Amino acid sequence: MSRALSGLGVSPGIAIGEPVVHETRPISTLRITIPPEKVDAEIERFRQAVAATVDHIQENRDRASQQMGEEYAAIFEAHQLIASDPSFTGPVEKVIREQEVNAGWAIDQVLEKLIAKFEALPDEYLADRKLDVLDVATQILHALQGLHLGQLEQLDRPVILVADDLPPSAAVQLPLDKMLGFALEMGGPTSHTTIIARSLGIPVIVGARGSCEEAKRSRRIALDAFEGKIVFDPNPAELSEYKSRQREYHEQQATLLQMRHVPTVTRDGRSIQLLANIDLSNELGKAMDWNVAGVGLYRSEFLYMKMSPALPTEKDHIEVYREMVSKMAPHPVTIRSFDLGGRKLAREIIGEGSEANPVLGLRGIRLCFSKPDFFRAQLRALLLTAGEFPVGRLKIMFPLISGIEEVRVARLLVREISAELRAEGHEIPDGIPLGAMVEVPSSAIMARELAREVDFISIGTNDLIQYALAIDRGNRHVADLYQPLDPAIIRMLKQVADVSKDKGIGLFMCGEMAATPHHIPLLLGMGMDELSMNPQSIPQIKRVIRSLDVKDARSFVREALKKKTARGVFELSRDAFGDTLSEVTFS
Ligand code: PEP
Ligand code: MG
Repeated sequence: MSRALSGLGVSPGIAIGEPVVHETRPISTLRITIPPEKVDAEIERFRQAVAATVDHIQENRDRASQQMGEEYAAIFEAHQLIASDPSFTGPVEKVIREQEVNAGWAIDQVLEKLIAKFEALPDEYLADRKLDVLDVATQILHALQGLHLGQLEQLDRPVILVADDLPPSAAVQLPLDKMLGFALEMGGPTSHTTIIARSLGIPVIVGARGSCEEAKRSRRIALDAFEGKIVFDPNPAELSEYKSRQREYHEQQATLLQMRHVPTVTRDGRSIQLLANIDLSNELGKAMDWNVAGVGLYRSEFLYMKMSPALPTEKDHIEVYREMVSKMAPHPVTIRSFDLGGRKLAREIIGEGSEANPVLGLRGIRLCFSKPDFFRAQLRALLLTAGEFPVGRLKIMFPLISGIEEVRVARLLVREISAELRAEGHEIPDGIPLGAMVEVPSSAIMARELAREVDFISIGTNDLIQYALAIDRGNRHVADLYQPLDPAIIRMLKQVADVSKDKGIGLFMCGEMAATPHHIPLLLGMGMDELSMNPQSIPQIKRVIRSLDVKDARSFVREALKKKTARGVFELSRDAFGDTLSEVTFS
């Protein structure tokens, strides 16, 4: 019998395939009695899980020491010692043998006592080592349960990944070409894992609680991201229905592709530039398929996450940037300095320890400043690459700017490093465009002053909405409160658009709002004509733009600004553009 669960479809498409479960939360283990004749086999299974974990840690250790130096390897060595320490493995085997129970349960029992011992230590540093023990024990439990993310790299067949949580740092380690779809218990429409999946055309459902448990008992699942529905072990009738809808969707996509050379102009002749947001360099091909007018946002932090635990060297940076700028020529490429922190952790940069509110913590430009060596290395690479091309082909952008001092410091650094590179004999031209992301409300409010300090502004609505409305963009509990049409957001966007026009500086939008058909009239009406988005959304947005008049969009903005609630704006939009937009939305 098939079973179904619902969630929120956040990246369109239908996937049918074998599920693979990945759990990050502490694994709950059941107590299972083992028949006496199978106790030896259970101990052997435990030993194999320990050996697999030690091997896995060794691989990480080798990578780290090779690319970052021996001092970074110490943490992995400590983990290896814990995994194979007889004072841990001995008691586990004893519990399996004496109580005739499964290895997972035995690990839990031994772990509980060990953790209590660590917690009783007076030295805070030593007490914190309990985290290492927990980490290693979790890895062994994962090894006992089957696949873990590291092993997924060796997958030889396509699968649907079902996970409780999939942070972007883990998503980039996956063999994404083998991922048919994601069913996630956590996450939201603008979480970074969703954004990557959307760019690659991988269907995603988030907020589907209980999926991991169901998937463990299923051989096949059908994931319908249009309806937000996951069917476990679909019956033949359901299967054939999903297959036919999947075919239909692929045909639609192929038809859209035929629009690649059609110009992006409104009905009344206004030309709009559509650019691509790129997270991983393999998305570039898709962007080029859609004939984009450049890269409006390269999220360079993904290079760090992809290479983790190693850090990209100056050469690594240059290779990626050079390839992107050459392939996009003659169009420009905007590269954002690393926006790590928040949910985009790179342990190697941030270090151990956690922040209570990471999204309000050491993130974006703040982290760049607090790690000057890493930031300088990236700026050197950006300037060196920019020097290889005509001025303007590579633009540099700074993330999470909250005030003009940050821009001034960043500009100063760029000037200093340019001088340093020139002294080394490199040709670094003047006038490389420098821009700021406006994604913190304070910088939207101060847009007029900010505009004097930069060559362009790019509005990041994903964060702007999160910070302005105090809604965590990755939290499914408040996902319905994440409201781009809130009048406060609309007023902020209008103010930034007006200021940019007044000051004659470049204005882009690179948040997901630009990739949502319903929001396009608003953006066009405010005069935003450079929109950057995940490549997958480009043909659909092009179709919307070609169906609109700027004149109507302007009068819509005038009316929308009078509304007091998001619902009011939504209804106004539905009345004005409902018919036009209903044909182009994916659900
Ligand atoms: C944004 O915040 O809108 C943005 C484009 O940046 P990111 O999604 O990477 O935070
Ligand atoms: Mg952002």
